[in-house]
Amino acid sequence: MRSGNRQLIRDINRSLVLNLIKNRGPISRTDIARLSGLSLATVSGITSDLIAENLVYEKEEGESTGGRRPILLALNHRARYVIGIKLMEHQITAALTDLNAAVLHRITSPLEDGQDVSRTVEALAETVEGLADRAGIEWEKMVGVGIGLAGVIDSVRGVCRYSPILNWRHVPLRDLLEERIQIPVYIDNDVNTLTMAEKLLGIGQGIDDFLTVTVGRGVGMGIVVNGQFYRGARGAGGEFGHTVIDPEGPLCSCGKRGCLEAYVSDPAIVRMAQEAVQRGELPIVPTELSAERVVALAQEGNDTARRILSHAGHVLGMGIANLINVFNPSLIIVTGEGVRAGDMLFGPMRDAVQRYEFANLAEDTEIVVQEWGDDAWARGAASLVLQEIFKPPVYESEPVSLAVSVS
Ligand SMILES: [Zn+2]
Repeated sequence: MRSGNRQLIRDINRSLVLNLIKNRGPISRTDIARLSGLSLATVSGITSDLIAENLVYEKEEGESTGGRRPILLALNHRARYVIGIKLMEHQITAALTDLNAAVLHRITSPLEDGQDVSRTVEALAETVEGLADRAGIEWEKMVGVGIGLAGVIDSVRGVCRYSPILNWRHVPLRDLLEERIQIPVYIDNDVNTLTMAEKLLGIGQGIDDFLTVTVGRGVGMGIVVNGQFYRGARGAGGEFGHTVIDPEGPLCSCGKRGCLEAYVSDPAIVRMAQEAVQRGELPIVPTELSAERVVALAQEGNDTARRILSHAGHVLGMGIANLINVFNPSLIIVTGEGVRAGDMLFGPMRDAVQRYEFANLAEDTEIVVQEWGDDAWARGAASLVLQEIFKPPVYESEPVSLAVSVS
């Protein structure tokens, strides 16, 4: 056996034990051996390493079977830390989390309009360093930084292929930031990071086939098929917002006509409201036009505002029915800023799903509308790093080191 293989087997066993402690802990060494199929001696060797690294600690609270109470092992969630970032057009939202993706500290830094790539990278680095500083976390305990951003992201190569919001094309963001802050950086589409958080920590746990649809500034989608993330051949899959509903329809941000996004996103709602204002049907001062304002008026019972949201919901439902027909998922999570419209949007959406689904496939799919917040995005971005830590090394492209040098 090549020595490289032996090291790989050791890494796989370590990952197996670490995951059992994370998922089943507090757990005894005997149970880890039984569940993993490893010998008790191997388990003891690995766990003493994990304890020495402070990643795992001993708890004396197992149930006694007559004799001494067994010693149980649990994951030390505060042994290492991760930073999750949502990079937006005008701001950086960053959160420091523990290994359980619990948000401990957060900061928001503004970004100037149209600033270049190097200044954005510098702003990201300063945000990360500032957050670690404020939280009083030693840099050595920082495992990595995960960044979610809108656009077409090649997460394997760490390249932003296209971001209309930042006006970026082929920006190697991962390498640029890694070079600056000297810890691993992972980037992905912001909707994928959110989907990852649902899979690791949220209602997607243990569900093999589910979709996340986000509604807000744009319309995005994350895809989990057979328990695996699906990104497409070049990592650009899931552009649900740019599926065409009507080729004669309104202009979309992508330059084409009649994309789903051009009916459902916040800018689409603002556009429809603007048209209604011009017709004198909606009492909003043009300078105060916003999706929030439309929702507020609809809540006050304004018929035109309600019709706008209901139309958006109807088109969204059509799109979701198509997704159900293609994927037959057991769960669709709908989230994002657009959730604020509540039943005024999602009532018509559910009606349209019933109308356009095929052969009662919708019966198999639970649709959950999920409350949304900045923490969700940050936890999602942090999950980018966390899933690397806990995933078996055989799948790793680049291993993540959890070792902390003790000086
Ligand atoms: Zn489009």
